[in-house]
Amino acid sequence: MRIGIPAEIRPGETRVAATPETVKKLATRHQVVVQSGAGVRAAVPDEAYAAAGATIGSMEDAFGADLVLKVRAPNELERTRMRPGTVVVGMLNPFDKDNTAAMTASGLTAFALEAAPRISRAQSMDVLSSQANIAGYKAVMLAANTYQRFMPMLMTAAGTVKAARVLVMGVGVAGLQAIATAKRLGAVIEASDVRPPVKEQVESLGAKFIDVPFLTDEEREIAQGVGGYARPMPADWIRRQGELVHERAKLADIVITTALIPGRAAPVLIREETVMAMKPGSVIVDMAIEQGGNCPLTELGKTVVKHGVYIIGEPNLAALVAADASALYARNVLDFLKLVIDKDDKFVIDREDEIVRATLLCHNGATPGGDPLRT
Ligand code: NAD
Repeated sequence: MRIGIPAEIRPGETRVAATPETVKKLATRHQVVVQSGAGVRAAVPDEAYAAAGATIGSMEDAFGADLVLKVRAPNELERTRMRPGTVVVGMLNPFDKDNTAAMTASGLTAFALEAAPRISRAQSMDVLSSQANIAGYKAVMLAANTYQRFMPMLMTAAGTVKAARVLVMGVGVAGLQAIATAKRLGAVIEASDVRPPVKEQVESLGAKFIDVPFLTDEEREIAQGVGGYARPMPADWIRRQGELVHERAKLADIVITTALIPGRAAPVLIREETVMAMKPGSVIVDMAIEQGGNCPLTELGKTVVKHGVYIIGEPNLAALVAADASALYARNVLDFLKLVIDKDDKFVIDREDEIVRATLLCHNGATPGGDPLRT
């Protein structure tokens, strides 16, 4: 089989879907063609891919392969370079119906890795976790860079400096890494989430959990989430959480927000009144900005100062750690390929496999059910 690794062309995308480590494994059984320059922004020169057994080629060569490994969903320019029947694997944004329809219309077979179920067998191919972990780390780095004070408590001859107070809103994979990273820098941390099991995880990292009590069975039930993901909480719970968060945010120096609900706009957790009440020079990093943001004042791709507070709306934080983000992503992809390439090196779709079923967006220009595309 011919496997192609194109350079990502989406603005700001620095990652690459394969590294010399994964190419070396693929090249023992397949022909691998890497677009020249595909790894440059992730610190991988063409020579390293060539040494791992790949051929270096053009964009057409990479997209002309039987199987194309991508980071982001192909745009029109990229789709038109793939022939019908090409298999494409990547973070293909399964909630974007237009994009799925376009890939289907192009006759592609596409797998969206973000759609893998959160089961133990899928952990090694869990791109959401590998990238969120990096993003959580980078969010703290950006905050520390903008914050005009120390993170740790320091006792110096010129007097004592207080430790920074960090508030983390939404403690999934990114939030947990943000807590761990801020802790390593010496900050004092509080965190909030809707899901009850998070309390123990937060406390095990040495942070304090902000408890918003459940007043009804309905609230308690919704807070359990589905498949490890949160569901939208009732308005009254959100109001009570907002009041509590307002009080905690007034004391915070850095707020990192990561709260997401799959397939929906991010919940608003830091209202303008709360920003107004925060200390001058404090910093918010809104990691949910690509889903609309957890703070209405955040602006996509910008750092703005509102009411004396720095608000960072940098999207795609994992791409700012391109080398390690690519290394982990490439391993996720390699692991996924074991499910769709059989021992005779042939491409297979096992619809009985729950991971294959969940990730398959379209197959040879038809919906996963085999129905022809309806326009
Ligand atoms: P996510 O990125 O979807 O959301 C981030 C966090 O925001 C979640 O913890 C969510 O509960 C929280 N949130 C949503 N609405 C909120 C609100 N109004 N207020 C406060 N917090 C709110 O989450 P994620 O990082 O993808 O992780 C979701 C869960 O899945 C975690 O428990 C994680 O440990 C688990 N997980 C399991 C596996 C596995 O079993 N294989 C793999 C990865 C993650």
